Amino acid sequence: MPLVSTRQLLDEAAKGGYGVGAFNVNDMEQIQAIMEAAKETNSPVIIQASRGARAFAQDNYLYHLMLAAAELYPQIPLAMHLDHGNSFETCESAIKLGFTSVMMDGSLKPDGKTPATFAENVEVTKRVADYAHERGISVEGEIGVLGGIEDGHGAGGSGLEHVTDPDQAVEFAELTGVDSLAIAIGTSHGAYKFTKKPDGSVLKMDLLIAIHKRLPKTHLVMHGSSSVPKDLQDIINQYGGKLKETWGVPVEEIQLGIKNGVRKVNVDTDNRLAITGAIRKVFVESPEKFDPRDYMKPARAAMQKVVATRMVQFGQAGHAGDYTAISIADMAKGYADGTLSTKPLVAAK
Ligand SMILES: [Zn+2]
Repeated sequence: MPLVSTRQLLDEAAKGGYGVGAFNVNDMEQIQAIMEAAKETNSPVIIQASRGARAFAQDNYLYHLMLAAAELYPQIPLAMHLDHGNSFETCESAIKLGFTSVMMDGSLKPDGKTPATFAENVEVTKRVADYAHERGISVEGEIGVLGGIEDGHGAGGSGLEHVTDPDQAVEFAELTGVDSLAIAIGTSHGAYKFTKKPDGSVLKMDLLIAIHKRLPKTHLVMHGSSSVPKDLQDIINQYGGKLKETWGVPVEEIQLGIKNGVRKVNVDTDNRLAITGAIRKVFVESPEKFDPRDYMKPARAAMQKVVATRMVQFGQAGHAGDYTAISIADMAKGYADGTLSTKPLVAAK
C-alpha cells in the first residue's frame, strides 16, 4: 500500500471506535520494530518524525526508509507524519518531501518554546491547513500548551499551566479547518510526566470529555501519552541506569480518551525506555560483545513488544484490512469539492 493520509486512518478509526498509535522514529530499527508490530497485530499505523528526528537522520534517509516500509508491508495502511512542526516552512518542507500529514504546533512561537497568542496560532495553522489540503495532506493543530520539553521543543512546566479551554478549542477548529486537534489536558513530553500515579488533579480527563462533547466529530490527539511502565524503568536501573521514579499516562486513561473522541495517541518515551533497557542488559551481561547487531536485535525486539502491546490496547489491532488506500491526489480532490469537509460539528454547551 502506498503511504496513506492520516485523515483517512483517523476517519476509519472513528468509524471503528478505536485509537491509532503514532510512534516516533529516528532510525531504521525503530521503523522495523513498528512495522513488525503492525504485521503481528494486523494494525494500521502512523509513524512520525519530529524536527529533531529529521535533523538526526536527514530527510532523505527517513523518507526512503518509510517507502521501504510501505513496499515491504503492502497490507498495512501506513501514514508518515511530521510531529510538532514549528512554522509554515517546516511543514512545507515535510510536505514537499512526501510526508502524508503534518502537525502545525502553533501553540508555541517558531522558537518552539514561547507560548503563542491564540490569534498567532490560528493564523499559521490555517495557512498550513490551506496549503496542505490543496495537496491532499492532513493537518493536526494544537490548542493549549503541553508540558515538558522533548528534542528541544516545548514550553517546559507541568502541563497544567496552559490546559485547553473548550470554547477556544471550538473556535480554533472552526477558524483553522484542521483534520485533528491536539489538546493539553495535563500531559507532558518525556519520561517525567507525573510524580505519582496521576489522578484527576493532574490529568484532566474531565476536560477532554468536555471538549469531545462540544466537538463530537473532531479527531482528538493525545500527546505525551507514554505510560512509562515500571518494568521498563526497572530494567534500565537494574543494569546500571539512573532513572528517577516516575509515572506516565495509565493505559486505562488513554482508553477512556479513545471512548471520548481520541483517535491518535502519541507514544515515544516507552519505546526509548525499551530500547535502552535491552541494550544495557546486553552490555552488562555480555561485556565481551562488540557487534552492534548483538544489542540492536534485542533492542528492536523490545520496542516491537511495546508497540504491539499498545496496538492491542488502543484497539487498532485487527483493522489493517478494513479499507483500501485513498490516493493523496484523491484526498486533494475531496478537500476541494467538500466531501472531506473540515468544518467541525459543534454541539451546544
Ligand atoms: Zn507532542
